[in-house]
Amino acid sequence: MIIDDQYYDVIIVGTGAGGGTLARKLAPSGKKILVLERGGYLEKESSELVDVEVFKKEQYHAPEQWYDNAGEPFYPQTSYSVGGNTKVWSGALLRMRERDFTAVPHQNGMSPAWELTYADFEPYYTEAEQLYQVHGKLGDDATEPPHSADYPFPAVEHEPQIAALCDSFSKQGLHPSHLPLGLGDQGRTDSEDSGITPALAYNNVTFKSNAKAVCLHTNPSGTAVKAVEAEVDGQSYLFLGHLVVLSCGAINSAVLLLRSANETHPNGIANRTGLVGCNLMKQLMTVIVQRSANPNSGLFQRTVYFNDFYWGNDSFPYPMGHIQNSGGILQDVIFAEAPPLLSVLAKLMPGSGLRQLATRTIGWWLQTEDLPNPNNRVSLSGEKITLHYEPNNLEAHDRLLYHWQEALKEVDKAMGQSVFAQNIHPHAMMPVQVVAHQCGTCRFGSNPDTSVLDLNCRTHEVDNLYVVDSSFFPSSSSTSPALTVMANALRVGDHLIERLK
Ligand SMILES: Cc1cc2nc3c(=O)[nH]c(=O)nc-3n(C[C@H](O)[C@H](O)[C@H](O)COP(=O)(O)OP(=O)(O)OC[C@H]3O[C@@H](n4cnc5c(N)ncnc54)[C@H](O)[C@@H]3O)c2cc1C
Repeated sequence: MIIDDQYYDVIIVGTGAGGGTLARKLAPSGKKILVLERGGYLEKESSELVDVEVFKKEQYHAPEQWYDNAGEPFYPQTSYSVGGNTKVWSGALLRMRERDFTAVPHQNGMSPAWELTYADFEPYYTEAEQLYQVHGKLGDDATEPPHSADYPFPAVEHEPQIAALCDSFSKQGLHPSHLPLGLGDQGRTDSEDSGITPALAYNNVTFKSNAKAVCLHTNPSGTAVKAVEAEVDGQSYLFLGHLVVLSCGAINSAVLLLRSANETHPNGIANRTGLVGCNLMKQLMTVIVQRSANPNSGLFQRTVYFNDFYWGNDSFPYPMGHIQNSGGILQDVIFAEAPPLLSVLAKLMPGSGLRQLATRTIGWWLQTEDLPNPNNRVSLSGEKITLHYEPNNLEAHDRLLYHWQEALKEVDKAMGQSVFAQNIHPHAMMPVQVVAHQCGTCRFGSNPDTSVLDLNCRTHEVDNLYVVDSSFFPSSSSTSPALTVMANALRVGDHLIERLK
């Protein structure tokens, strides 16, 4: 093993929404920072998912197998690359709603309160929106929480076909809202362009790609991490640092803590309570496809969302969730993740290729909060990663789907679609390998008996060890998670800057 001859003030592991954003925040501090990332660089044209070819290249699946409840292997939908999952994402950057930070009764149980409020996160949401160049519009959506500053850029206009649909949904009394999107000169912003690249302009930041952290080494009493062991281009290295921040994604950060078990932390680092890896959430997600009256390009941004059912309605007084259009289906992962859906569509439109199917359809993503359950967890046996995950809160999701099917029927009717098209909206719920919105495996809180991290995202048990990916979420909400991960990384960044003074 090679022992790196440097001593770093901070070692950050992982460069996704959490790690990339934190690196950018800490870079101007002048502190000596090392960033380790297991993946390599992903070309921009690949990450933009601009062509059906990209589906075949499988660039948003990790090149390794994990296992489900039944012991069946699968390829997880997660990108190991510089920028992490923000390289393959849709760039929808929404704030969690104020009530999402409080205890909320759901049909299937209680969504727990965060010990910080929306007001604690608000300045960091604003900072994250600036950093990731969010294009949005306030005032469309009654669930939108207060903003101390407007979006830095105006919202992206809808495609003509989407605009026509929005008019029709509005006539039903629904509220189409402009989807906030992170967009730069070259398409969607991501944690490489907005995080790592600008951080590397500072000569106090060292970056190693193809550097997979495999173990954390603590001091003999187990109170501090002394070194991060990593495989860099296949060679073992030991990196020494004062503070260590994990941001490997909720599943992989838990795995790294579990894999680093030693004499003082026999169940894994910071895992005296056995909570590391528990309470895995990933939101319930269904994609539903509507035939479009006229062909579209298949290549356009997501631009609209609906939160009309977010907190429930008269017939169901519990949260149901959030709906977004998929954007042009050729830019989306729908078909790749839902092969059964593809075969239903192929039957409906015989003789059509994938491109034709995509350009004659409009997709919608439905996402519903899943509730934290200690039995939904990540476990590690040898090198085998298993996700023990049973979806919950299913009725709320079914209700959301029902309401959306009814809304689509109305719209199809209003737009003169055939009775056949009005009644057929193929849909598929995302299987276990869709871990895009994974969170919750190292929840934060002030009580060391019920949480892994304190409110600064420092592990309760190891003084110099932090986790800033989506692991810290005590609940998932129905909102897409990345802006909250980024805002939290900026918040923890302020704490680290203070600590390093
Ligand atoms: C297809 C897709 C579409 C999405 N669209 C949206 C969207 O529109 N809006 C939204 O809010 N969210 C979206 N998401 C989710 C969003 O990308 C994640 O919430 C966000 O990236 C999570 O950030 P993170 O820092 O927790 O983890 P990640 O972004 O996953 O970053 C983890 C990083 O750690 C690295 N890593 C892992 N293990 C190690 C190790 N042992 N050593 C070194 N490095 C390691 C990984 O390679 C990766 O770079 C999408 C996700 C996917 C997959």
